[in-house]
Amino acid sequence: MMPNSLPKILIVDDQKQNLTTMRLILAETHAELYTVSSGKEAIELVADNDFALILLDVQMPGMDGFETAEAMRSGNYVAGIPIIFITANSQDQQDIFQGYDSGAVDYLFKPVDLKILLSKVSFFLELDRKSKELIKENIDLAKLTIHDDLTGLYNRRYLNERLQEEFSRCKRYNTDCSCMMIDLDHFKNVNDTYGHGFGDVVIKTFAKRLSERTRSTDFVFRFGGEEFLILLPQTDISGAEQLAREICRYNEEETFTSPAHEAIVTVSIGLSSFQEHQPKVQNDMISMADQALYAAKNNGRNRVEIYR
Ligand code: GH3
Ligand code: MG
Ligand code: MG
Repeated sequence: MMPNSLPKILIVDDQKQNLTTMRLILAETHAELYTVSSGKEAIELVADNDFALILLDVQMPGMDGFETAEAMRSGNYVAGIPIIFITANSQDQQDIFQGYDSGAVDYLFKPVDLKILLSKVSFFLELDRKSKELIKENIDLAKLTIHDDLTGLYNRRYLNERLQEEFSRCKRYNTDCSCMMIDLDHFKNVNDTYGHGFGDVVIKTFAKRLSERTRSTDFVFRFGGEEFLILLPQTDISGAEQLAREICRYNEEETFTSPAHEAIVTVSIGLSSFQEHQPKVQNDMISMADQALYAAKNNGRNRVEIYR
């Protein structure tokens, strides 16, 4: 839904007179009102529109209100859209709630009390407004998040932003920047042997090791599950290689420990740099480092390879 766009209400009733009355009553909600006189038309509209609420007459010739709702539901069009059934028969109440999550449906009896209609509709519109607001706030928050939950390192979303900046800096001032792609070796075995919990300990500890071994001007990212990436501004390929070898050596010697387990986990590293490899676009930096990492894996793991 576009910000500030009006909520939409669908009104379904086979009697033209009822549709006219509802339109008049609901005009003051300032919602966009859609009226149709059969279940079939309603289903077509629901497929293409994001309704905040559906008012559905139960007694209609052909497809009745319940059948219409059922068809919408099985077509997955109305997930989360509240429906107010409007019925002449108080015996229907039992059926109305069958198969629906509570809160997702309501009902009104004919003759419809206009005040009650208006207050129920207003209530559902307010609910719709609040839930859309919440969704938007969550999306905004996610966009602000630059850290990975498990490790506290920068996340991949932030990498795109960061890389763009470093890449333009290199081009503009003709400086250097290196990209280091790191992957834990045979990590599946670690999980399989010691359990996923210990696997998480290894990932967290490794993240800490990387943070401690890099400068405050470097950027350490969790790239994926057990893959990490370091951007090294103002660092040429030989500087990056030196750091990569240190990281390899350290992991070869230091165990990862938890109260229950202890293990050595080695790493493979691929490297690329701006001046050495002249990447045309920023993502080439990453794919070059990734190809070098692939070579490090193929050449026996626990080693460093430079893209060539
Ligand atoms: P290779 O040396 O070729 O990299 O082998 P590998 O086993 O490390 O690589 P593979 O890609 O086959 O497996 C990666 C494993 O890492 C599988 C996945 O379940 C695990 N993993 C990814 N993210 C996490 C995580 O957050 N926690 C834990 N415990 N395991 C994870
Ligand atoms: Mg791995
Ligand atoms: Mg991997």
